[in-house]
Amino acid sequence: MELVVLGSGTAAPTAERTAPAHWVEAGPVKLLLDCGAGVLHRAAAFGVPWAAATHLAITHFHPDHWGELAAYLFALRWGIEPARSAPLMLLGPPGLLLRLERLAGAFGGWVLEPEFPLEVVEIAAGATRELSPGITLETCDTPHTSESIAYAVRTGEARLVYTGDTGPSEALARWAAGCDLLLAECSLPDERAIGVHLTPTQAGALAHAARARRLVLTHFYPVFGATDPVRAAAREFHGEIVAARDGDRFVIGT
Ligand SMILES: [Zn+2]
Ligand SMILES: [Zn+2]
Repeated sequence: MELVVLGSGTAAPTAERTAPAHWVEAGPVKLLLDCGAGVLHRAAAFGVPWAAATHLAITHFHPDHWGELAAYLFALRWGIEPARSAPLMLLGPPGLLLRLERLAGAFGGWVLEPEFPLEVVEIAAGATRELSPGITLETCDTPHTSESIAYAVRTGEARLVYTGDTGPSEALARWAAGCDLLLAECSLPDERAIGVHLTPTQAGALAHAARARRLVLTHFYPVFGATDPVRAAAREFHGEIVAARDGDRFVIGT
């Protein structure tokens, strides 16, 4: 399984970090986790085959996490040659279909009926969905918004957990237990802690409690400046820690 960080940022624009988007390839599965602004251009810049996506999963409905979805679907219909015929599955928390209907009202019926098969799947916290034989997507509730979920991608040999946005959560740590790579949001420095996001120390504590093999921090607000989130996270977690940058690639399992 391979992870490519397309957007390690947040709602706050910077030249270095675009909004949340993470690309995962596992066998035949090409999955985009969150679809924030900038994802298409970052994917093009990094040579990620965005047009070959098989699945697209949204963690919650804050616009920085799915604001480029309509443009992505538009690009799949009119931005590639030859035209796409392969099916695409869109996944997200309950309420996804209603929001897509509203997007279709704003942009056009092609949002829900592009000229390729589009399946919309509302996935509740705690559910598991098979993406392809032997490759599953699992979900867990997170304390960020009422609908927010974390995702795990599990293959026969590895498990990647992406927290989406979250606050500290023992239930999330139990659910993430033993993961090979924990891709954790790390929004704010420790001195700016709030209940609905993680700081580096809290992300480190989550990785420690989950006994993760590796911790990759993402979703940085510019307030971090030149401070080193890895150093703070390392007070709690003693495995490998990386502060992701847009374009970083990670191999998970073999
Ligand atoms: Zn966010
Ligand atoms: Zn959010």
